[in-house]
Amino acid sequence: MNEAMGEKVAIWLLNDLRLHDHPALQAALERRPARVEFVYVWGPPVAGWGKYSYPSQSLGFNRRLSPARERFILESLLDLAERVPLTLLEGEPQEVLPVWAASQGVSIVYAHREWAPEEISYQSATACALEAKGIPLILHEGNSLYETHQLPFPLDSLPMLFTRFRQLVERTARVKPPLPSPSLPPASQPIEETAKILRQRLSALPPLHEKSFPFKGGERAGQARVEAYFERALFTYKETRNGFWGSDFSSHLSPWLAVGCLSPRWICERLREAEKRHGANDSTYWLFFELLWREYFRWLSARWGCRLFAVGGLRNLKLPWRHDMQLFQAWIEGNTGYPIIDAAMRELKATGWTSNRARQIVASFLTKNLFIDWRWGASYFEVQLIDYDVYSNWGNWLYQAGVGTDGRGFRWFDPVRQAKLYDPEGSFIRLWVPELRSLSAPRVYMPEPEIRRSLGYPPPLVDWHVSLTAAKDAYWTAVKGKPTGNQLLKLFQDEEG
Ligand SMILES: Cc1cc2nc3c(=O)[nH]c(=O)nc-3n(C[C@H](O)[C@H](O)[C@H](O)COP(=O)(O)OP(=O)(O)OC[C@H]3O[C@@H](n4cnc5c(N)ncnc54)[C@H](O)[C@@H]3O)c2cc1C
Repeated sequence: MNEAMGEKVAIWLLNDLRLHDHPALQAALERRPARVEFVYVWGPPVAGWGKYSYPSQSLGFNRRLSPARERFILESLLDLAERVPLTLLEGEPQEVLPVWAASQGVSIVYAHREWAPEEISYQSATACALEAKGIPLILHEGNSLYETHQLPFPLDSLPMLFTRFRQLVERTARVKPPLPSPSLPPASQPIEETAKILRQRLSALPPLHEKSFPFKGGERAGQARVEAYFERALFTYKETRNGFWGSDFSSHLSPWLAVGCLSPRWICERLREAEKRHGANDSTYWLFFELLWREYFRWLSARWGCRLFAVGGLRNLKLPWRHDMQLFQAWIEGNTGYPIIDAAMRELKATGWTSNRARQIVASFLTKNLFIDWRWGASYFEVQLIDYDVYSNWGNWLYQAGVGTDGRGFRWFDPVRQAKLYDPEGSFIRLWVPELRSLSAPRVYMPEPEIRRSLGYPPPLVDWHVSLTAAKDAYWTAVKGKPTGNQLLKLFQDEEG
């Protein structure tokens, strides 16, 4: 079929809420259809748990996504709905999408391939249900810097250490230029209806927290953020990226990348253009380096599937994790008695975002000091983060918990030292822990017992040194002696075999 015969095709959107660099859309347009319909399913794996979701560990989370993330996704959809014909369905994709596609006379559905187990299950089940109605689902790769065929190794030989992965791809693979935003065939009917529904739903959501970075969903807002950040702060990124607070210490692009308002290839192109204009430096390289981390976790998921969610992680380590709800709750609420941890956790709870260094410190504290099952932490991040991304979240948690791909094995962060380094005035702590507002640095990093008592701030939940030593012992007992880099590689190789 072609244009003359009035073919209608559909783009099933998930984590690709954009028009630029959209290989699935590009492929659909190559058929020269008369109509292109966009469809988004409000249901699992994004909103709510369903048939193919992993059973959550009954942690009592009643929502799968935070209001901040819901707002961001709805804004991103609205940004599209104002420009293209978009239909919003509710339910499990394999149930609602085929019925809708058949009722609309859609002949083919296009989407981007996902790499995580739950997402794959939904795509497979939907493909079968569509097929039963004579409608094929065609999946394309998108949302990554590289496509599978560009990787200089087969997926099952993905290097277990990031550095090796980075060296190989940097040496041999080239990031392709992004596809331009295409011009689309005219919509068959007015496109205002979905936009109206989205605006109504948005008006029922709480506004962003007053101290939140002003995240606004949508391709256009994401592209504007790239331009603004590159203009103002890209060239000092490497020096500032470990900060805790402020608009420009890091790019804040993660929410747009997570839902695909921005394609990493497009960011990369803008990065190269900025380098051509002003010269490359360590900071411009470092932003690319961080995008490679994002990339690595995607391929890790493609390679290891369900193992990403296993308590023993990729290394099948049997660690005596605690399942203590009281300790876990104190961590969630930011009542651990460690000011920098509490500031970060309160920021996360209020805004759905906290910096990378803060995420590392709180993950280290949960897994190396409270010794709580790392999957509890990952699950809380999943329901809380505005930039939740299945690959980056679970991959980073595995890494921080020491059951993933960290060549160092047992990695930890000293919260007081980190606070001194990256919150030198203590202002981030004072902003989020008002009990400590009257304290200045260095006292604010670890107030004395009598000061805590007088200010109503809790004592430390655990002794940092004692708990770390116990965790270290448990860890090295589980790996039976400290492996060197090569032994670790061997360990992974043994696992693979
Ligand atoms: C325990 C833990 C959980 C995390 N969960 C998520 C998550 O669900 N979603 C998410 O996008 N990131 C996650 N990260 C990675 C990182 O913290 C965020 O990507 C980063 O803080 C986002 O801020 P930014 O956009 O300003 O990053 P920048 O420092 O400006 O980096 C630019 C981009 O590079 C990517 N990036 C940077 N660091 C990492 C990293 N360590 N891993 C993967 N990609 C990275 C992101 O896409 C980011 O937007 C997690 C990190 C940890 C330690």
